[in-house]
Amino acid sequence: MNLNESLVDEMVRLEYSREDAVVFVRAKGKCEYCGVDLIHNRIAWDSVQFDHIIPKSKGGSDKTDNLALSCKICNNAKMTFYPQGVTREELLLSAKAHISERRGHADDFYMKVSKIFNEHGYSSENST
Ligand SMILES: [Zn+2]
Repeated sequence: MNLNESLVDEMVRLEYSREDAVVFVRAKGKCEYCGVDLIHNRIAWDSVQFDHIIPKSKGGSDKTDNLALSCKICNNAKMTFYPQGVTREELLLSAKAHISERRGHADDFYMKVSKIFNEHGYSSENST
């Protein structure tokens, strides 16, 4: 894995544990389930959580391999789901499928509201 070690070091200087810093940098600051950018938006930033891919309550470890950077919405949708797979990638894919199914209704509703706003000229891209 090509981890930006100097960025990890800077995160540690900001009082992150080495493990959390590694998780953050490995994920490039994005939710590993839905891809939302958690770094460049102040509100998204408040949604940052560290998810145990295999839930701690079901024997998952605190090691970085079992941690995923997650937004609050995905972490809430995942709850204590036990993903299937052997490699980290397989476990993430399994969790992603579960989360996307659980988020489906809320995401559809959000898209409808967002579309209506756009149709009425309220574009999120051009707001200042
Ligand atoms: Zn997410």
